[in-house]
Amino acid sequence: MIIQLSDAVSTEEAQALARRFSAILLNDSGERLLITSSKQSDLSPELEACAEEIFSMQSDIQLASRQFRPETREISLGAAGTIGGSSKRTLMMTGPCSVESEEQLIACAEFVKRMGIRVLRGGCFKPRTSPYSFQGLGEEGLKLLAQMRETYGLTIVTEVRDATHIDAVIAHSDIIQVGAKAMYDHGILRRCGQAAKPVLLKRGFGTTLQEFVQAAEFILSGGNPDVMLCERGIRTFETKTRFTLDLCGVAWLQEHTNLPIILDTSHAMGYRYGVPALTRACTAMGVDGLLIETHPNPDKAMSDAAQQLSFEQFEDMFASLKPIAAAVGRTLV
Ligand code: PEP
Ligand code: MN
Repeated sequence: MIIQLSDAVSTEEAQALARRFSAILLNDSGERLLITSSKQSDLSPELEACAEEIFSMQSDIQLASRQFRPETREISLGAAGTIGGSSKRTLMMTGPCSVESEEQLIACAEFVKRMGIRVLRGGCFKPRTSPYSFQGLGEEGLKLLAQMRETYGLTIVTEVRDATHIDAVIAHSDIIQVGAKAMYDHGILRRCGQAAKPVLLKRGFGTTLQEFVQAAEFILSGGNPDVMLCERGIRTFETKTRFTLDLCGVAWLQEHTNLPIILDTSHAMGYRYGVPALTRACTAMGVDGLLIETHPNPDKAMSDAAQQLSFEQFEDMFASLKPIAAAVGRTLV
């Protein structure tokens, strides 16, 4: 339940109510909210007396619910402008799976810039399945990304793998990516809740939509209103493709949540050949953003080599997406 407190309630009273009812007290752009579990359905007369408005929810999808705020949140992404809101833009985010070297990253940044794209994405702390695979350049990679922001004026997305380097990632990125494996790490979610930067939260491959949005609730209720949800494929019985992109789930998220939605077709498909067509399908769904892996020499990539697009492949795909975006009333940027 979300109780929007009336102006007559003092700060001390609000804090006392939060303690008494085990509620989270949140300042949401000037409004003070007391948030209790949705299971707490009986409202005490004391709380009712303090309320300006009461939102009673069916589940703990609360701040992210359209029942609470019907409009899609608008999030400022620095130099890249905004995502969500009523802008009707679909924002492309691209770059390599891993930052590998200065030379590789400059090639990517120059390509991104040439395409007129504003967001460069690359991982420096990679959550690899094997400890013997390339683990990322770490802080050295973060510095290279910061250099690209400086030189090319790009907005930078990079992922946090665990709590050991979260402050460094927050400091060096414009958008913090929380990956499919890290999304269950409550230390990361809570730290992101205190960060003054937007968060791109990926869905775990075994995560239900309810659990996914509840992970976002940890960040939102921690005080960070700027969360984007990213569907990147879930694990099903199918093994011919890397994962199964849950577009039905995307429709559900669009219907029920107020968070901008981003689709990552690269990790879902796992193979280059399927990525362009899949991305066209996603664009037709009218999503807020797309995340695609590109590499100057994909076959030689140090992670996710099979799925990254070459610059030529990306360029062809990008041109084909623009009329599709326009057909659903959106502009691809
Ligand atoms: C990535 O974005 O490179 C990545 C590791 O993705 P995911 O967390 O979706 O597996
Ligand atoms: Mn990857």
